[in-house]
Amino acid sequence: MSTPPEMLPRLHVLERGWLSSNNIVFDDDDGISVVDTGYVTHAEQTVQLIDRLRRGRPLTRIINTHLHSDHVGGNARLAAAAHRWSGASANIIIAPGQAAAVAAWDEDALGYAATGQQCERFAHHDVLRIGATLTLGGAPWEVLAAPGHDPHMVMLFEPHARVLISADALWENGFGAIFGEIEGEPAFAAQRAVLDEIARRAPRVVIPGHGAPFTGVAAALERAYGRLSSLAADPRRNANHIAKVLIKFWLLQVRATTYAELLAHFAGTRYMRLIHARYFSQQPLEALLDRILMELALMGAITRAGERVANRD
Ligand SMILES: [Zn+2]
Repeated sequence: MSTPPEMLPRLHVLERGWLSSNNIVFDDDDGISVVDTGYVTHAEQTVQLIDRLRRGRPLTRIINTHLHSDHVGGNARLAAAAHRWSGASANIIIAPGQAAAVAAWDEDALGYAATGQQCERFAHHDVLRIGATLTLGGAPWEVLAAPGHDPHMVMLFEPHARVLISADALWENGFGAIFGEIEGEPAFAAQRAVLDEIARRAPRVVIPGHGAPFTGVAAALERAYGRLSSLAADPRRNANHIAKVLIKFWLLQVRATTYAELLAHFAGTRYMRLIHARYFSQQPLEALLDRILMELALMGAITRAGERVANRD
């Protein structure tokens, strides 16, 4: 857990990792609120961490910046825990745009089937409104649209302390993969507009969806603009990066697998098939995955020894 200096005293960041997003916990007057809940396989740990932090107070709100599996995977377990803790339920408030898909639990529309990721079903109570202000930890947080990484993502901005909860729109080194482009959406332009919006707001502190909170925001923006330009200049590079992200994320869950299993898993996920068909169709899927695994191994992100493929932390 880290609470950077000069940050709002009623805000705590549970820094997690890459499989689970960070959880941001607010001390409200009537209990606590949590923004983003991590991945499903870490849900028990998320419940324990928040139980320790709440010190007997009820969890009243679970808020999600977007519906990716690594940001909402603890919702169901945390809502059940909230009920056990205080006998009252926590309201789950999601980013706008996909409420119908959540209500129907449409795993295709929510992207869980397309990415080959899992998420435990939950029911939402309300939807965030762009431009509205939420009171969290006694401070006003403005809900800002942040399409690009995800067309429905939001960020939260506190204008007095100038703290930004950026979700996956800006990390200290980069931003979340630009998935929309592989489906033919103009997501690079959307991401650029989001970076412009962040630059205009000039936050002093950014609490990203992954990684530690940071203050060197101008430098982080510069890195992000540079990365965006290089991806936009070569969409195949973006597609290649997404393939890497999907494989690394899966290996974070399964830890180790065989090449045959990995091939079978990704041959069945829509995003990998789309990347293959749109950008790399001149080679078989096996050859694409082989190359991506080699690139991941060279980066030190995985190990591969013959048939065996394993995550490397
Ligand atoms: Zn995301």
